[in-house]
Amino acid sequence: MRVEYWCKHCKHLVGALDRPEWSQADAERYCGLQQLSPAERMEWVSVYGSQGVMTVQTICQHCQQAVEQHPELLIEGKVLQ
Ligand SMILES: [Zn+2]
Repeated sequence: MRVEYWCKHCKHLVGALDRPEWSQADAERYCGLQQLSPAERMEWVSVYGSQGVMTVQTICQHCQQAVEQHPELLIEGKVLQ
């Protein structure tokens, strides 16, 4: 399983894990995804089983800072780089 973390705002690849020996259940356990509610899971996690890739939406450091300094950016649904 390959796990990729993408920033939901700037679509930047934040990090990736290559664990060929992991099943999807392993990846969810190691990444703490079991703590998400079903709605959060639907929103944040996508699994491309045929390619063995799971993507997780997150927020990169840059966007985190931008949102903290300019919360109105979130409301507008866009974050400027
Ligand atoms: Zn970002």
